[in-house]
Amino acid sequence: MEAVRLVILGRQGSGKGTQCARLVATYGPVHVSTGDMLRSAVEEGTDLGRRAGALVDAGELVPDDVMIGIVAERLAKQDVVDHGFLLDGFPRTPAQADALGEIMGDAGLARAVNIDVPVDEATDRMLSRARTDDTEEAIRRRLQLYESTTEPLLAWFEEHGLLSVVDGLGTEDEVFERLRTVVEGAPA
Ligand code: ADP
Repeated sequence: MEAVRLVILGRQGSGKGTQCARLVATYGPVHVSTGDMLRSAVEEGTDLGRRAGALVDAGELVPDDVMIGIVAERLAKQDVVDHGFLLDGFPRTPAQADALGEIMGDAGLARAVNIDVPVDEATDRMLSRARTDDTEEAIRRRLQLYESTTEPLLAWFEEHGLLSVVDGLGTEDEVFERLRTVVEGAPA
């Protein structure tokens, strides 16, 4: 099987993080999570961390040019070239989606899979976990931004013939089996 190169979409609380970890364990791609990258930058107190910290805590989006730079740099690294990637948290805006097309260039656009969970269930799941940016207000803001800015990207991937949708309700195992079908059935 070729290296997995997949964009993972799905609103906050869809189980993306959990399923990404399982996909990594099974297929070996590099998990490129922009949220994780930002949170470690904040923790380490880097330039990026200082610029992004307040936005992340408030659930606001970090500016496109910053995010595009980070992702372009990460996807160019040798481990990603060798083992493929799961892109988690990016693209989140139309400008980011366009930039991803350019970043992929000759390699062609990556397929996207949407882990679909209704907003009420997603909210409940998020409130029961304990990340520092999971205050009720920040959660509300992130879900709102998802509906207004990120959800339209589903249509973008769909129009490009690149979207698969997986039902995100059910047990972790059930959702993972659905993802396996997408990953193994995807045209090379
Ligand atoms: P969630 O999916 O729960 O919102 P993430 O870990 O993907 O969490 O992102 C956490 C925060 O990091 C976001 O609320 C936002 O502030 C910032 N962020 C992550 N990815 C992006 C992106 N592609 N564009 C802009 N901001 C981002």
